Amino acid sequence: MARIVAIVNQKGGVGKTTTCVNLSAAISKKGKKVLAVDCDPQGNLTSGFGIDKKSLSRTTYDVLIGSCSAEEAIIKDKFENLSVLPANVNLAGAEIELVSMIARELRLKDAIEKIKIEYDYIFIDCPPSLGLLTLNALVAADSVIIPIQCEYYALEGLSQLSNTISLVRKHLNKRLEIDGVVLTMFDSRTNLSLEVVEEVKRFFGQKVFLSVIPRNVRLSEAPSFGLPGIIYDPDSKGAKAYIELAEEYINRIENSFSRGANK
Ligand code: ADP
Ligand code: MG
Repeated sequence: MARIVAIVNQKGGVGKTTTCVNLSAAISKKGKKVLAVDCDPQGNLTSGFGIDKKSLSRTTYDVLIGSCSAEEAIIKDKFENLSVLPANVNLAGAEIELVSMIARELRLKDAIEKIKIEYDYIFIDCPPSLGLLTLNALVAADSVIIPIQCEYYALEGLSQLSNTISLVRKHLNKRLEIDGVVLTMFDSRTNLSLEVVEEVKRFFGQKVFLSVIPRNVRLSEAPSFGLPGIIYDPDSKGAKAYIELAEEYINRIENSFSRGANK
């Protein structure tokens, strides 16, 4: 049964999509079956995997509204072991249309429920807000990964995010855990990056992954070729960091399960 993981931070441009694309790809390369779910109307995850956003007839929007099943919208084996539930700008409408729907927070959970047996990991790329789309992701998920950009105000908004996670736990999804915090766009030449790392470690302690993602131009070029950075240039520093993160992540999850500690 899949572990369902929302990649969340209501700030834009912190590396959610880049992390979702590369972590999904790196884990699928280890022979695990992965589904990547695009839950952002910008559809950057979708195009990051080389899928043409405009030509899609079924997307996350249709799944949430109930006009098709997840099975019908998923693009199977876009890469080996890696399937994608794509999205485009249509999804912006869901935020509004869902408001009046029954069980509006449970739509994604119910849709994924039926297919999760087919995967080892399902990663959900969240939009830069804490609205109904992110809420659907948090209710569907077993856990979250929080990317934090090594920049000024890195911690800004994180208490609001922690609050949202607590509220979801209390009212909608008791089992929601924080799998980890990943530091992105680290620049070893600046003291600022180092300061942010220390600050985030004080706030999140052991939850912070040891693998830190450097700022790396190959990672930002890769989406324009429709490829995950780890496939576009596997020897780049950015790719290596995501491959390392994938290993650390799998170890963290699979070891804590075998110890029974991840309850
Ligand atoms: P989010 O999904 O949180 O909005 P993205 O993953 O789209 O963030 O990243 C924002 C921008 O920064 C994108 O243009 C992306 O290519 C770039 N980017 C992300 N991570 C890195 C990195 N480690 N090095 C260089 N550029 C990056
Ligand atoms: Mg994004």
